[in-house]
Amino acid sequence: MEGKCCKCEEYNWPDPQEVVWEDPVDGKGYCVFHAQKAETKLASADSAKPLTSQAFNKLVLDRMNNAVLSNEITCLKGVVFPWKFEIIGKNTNKRIVRADFSCALFCSSVRFYGVKFSDSEFKNAIFKDATFDYSEFESGCPKSESNGEFLFHGSKFVIGVFYNCIFQKVNFCEINVEERIHFKECSFNAEALFHGCSGKDKSILFSRVGAPTVPGHGSRNGGGNEVFMKNVIFRSHDVHWMSFSVFTWPMRLGYETYASTVQGDTVSPEEQVRKNKIHMKECEELYRAMKQRALELHDQPQASRWHFREKLMQLKLQLLPAKSNALVDAFEDESLCVKNRMSALWELFRALPWRMRRSLLFLYWISSGFGERSGRAAISLLALIVLSLLTLVVLKLFETGLSLRFDALKVGEVLYEWVRCMPLVKIDATINTSAPIVSGIRTIFSGLAQVATALQATLFALAVRNRFRR
Ligand SMILES: [Zn+2]
Repeated sequence: MEGKCCKCEEYNWPDPQEVVWEDPVDGKGYCVFHAQKAETKLASADSAKPLTSQAFNKLVLDRMNNAVLSNEITCLKGVVFPWKFEIIGKNTNKRIVRADFSCALFCSSVRFYGVKFSDSEFKNAIFKDATFDYSEFESGCPKSESNGEFLFHGSKFVIGVFYNCIFQKVNFCEINVEERIHFKECSFNAEALFHGCSGKDKSILFSRVGAPTVPGHGSRNGGGNEVFMKNVIFRSHDVHWMSFSVFTWPMRLGYETYASTVQGDTVSPEEQVRKNKIHMKECEELYRAMKQRALELHDQPQASRWHFREKLMQLKLQLLPAKSNALVDAFEDESLCVKNRMSALWELFRALPWRMRRSLLFLYWISSGFGERSGRAAISLLALIVLSLLTLVVLKLFETGLSLRFDALKVGEVLYEWVRCMPLVKIDATINTSAPIVSGIRTIFSGLAQVATALQATLFALAVRNRFRR
C-alpha cells in the first residue's frame, strides 16, 4: 500500500496523508484520519493493530498544536472520530481553537469545554452527541465564503447541547436534528440564522438565552433576551419545531429586520419592490405561524402581539408602492415622542393616494391598531365625537347667518343635536320647515355619525377586551 489518501485529496488537505488502510471493495486508500472505522485506523500501512482511542485523539491534538506553532488553521476536514473526543479548556481563560472541522464525523460523543473557536467552522459536520459548554464562537473560517459567519451550515445532530455559549455571527441553516438541540443560557450577540432546518417536532429548544453579561457567562436570568431574540432569525416553517422558554419577545422578530437589510447592490427598483413583496409575505406567514402557535398554547397576549404584527405586514404589503412603510414604522415606534409619531402619521396620510386611505385595512389600523391598541381606539372614538360636535356648530353658524352672538337657545339646540349623534339615540326625522335642506342634512348627518360612533365604540371595546383578557 502506498500513495496518498483519497479523502485528503477530496477535501484539499494541504498535507495529504499516507494511506494506512485500503478498502477491499473499491481499492481506495485512506489515511488514519479519514479511515471510516475504529478498526481500520491503523498506526501505519504495515501495522496490523488498530490505534487506541487515546493514540488517535493525541494524533489529532498534535496536529492542532503543530498548526498553532506555524500559525495556521488546522485542517481537520472530513476527519472521522470513531471514539469519544474532547477538548477541555478553562472557563475563564479559554483555549483557542483554530480548526476547520467541516464534514467531520463524530461517531461518539464530543465535548468542547471552555474553548474559544476563531477562524473555525463545523459546516456539514455530523454529531451524534455533542456538548459545547462555556465556549465562544468567534469568527468563521476565512477560507470559506462565510461572510464572517461561524458555520454550522448543513450539519447533522442527534443530540446537541450548547450551554453558556457565546455566539457572534453564526449560521445554523439547513441543519438536521434527529433528537434535539438545546441552547441553554447562551448569548447571541449578532445574527443567528436558522433557515430551512429540519427535524422532528420541537427539536430546537431555546431556554434562557439572553444578553451578554460578563464574557464567559451567558445570561443566567434570561434578562435582555428581548434584544437577543432580534438576532435569532427563523422563518415560518421553522416555527413548529422550535421551542422557546423563559422569554420576553421583541416587538418584531429578527427575520423582519434581517431580510429588509439584506439587499443586493445592483438590483433595479422593480426588482427591489418584487423582493420586498416576497419578504413582507414571508414575514406575514411567520407572524401567522407564531400566532397559531400561541393560540395552541392558549397564550392570548402572545396571540394578540403576533396578530398585530401579521396585520401590519398585510398593511405594509398594501402600501408598498407608496414607499411609505418607513412612516408606518415611525408611527408605530413607541420609543418616539408623540409629536414625532403624529408628524409621521401626517406625512403618511399626505403620501398615500385616496384609494389606500379608504382601504378597510388602513382604517382598521388607524382607528384601533387592528383591534389591539385600546388607547388609539379611545382617542379615535373621542375624535369622532368631538368632530360631530364641531360639524354641528358650523352647521348652526351657517343657519344663523354666521352670527357669533351667544344665544343660549341655539347652544341648547346644538347640544340636543349632538346627543342625537350618539349611538342608540332615536332620531326623529321631522323636517324643520323654516330650513328644510339644513334640517335634512342634519338628520342624515346624525344617522351617519351614529353608525360611525357605534362602530368605533365596538372597536374600542374589542381592543380593551384583547388587552385585558390576559
Ligand atoms: Zn486522509
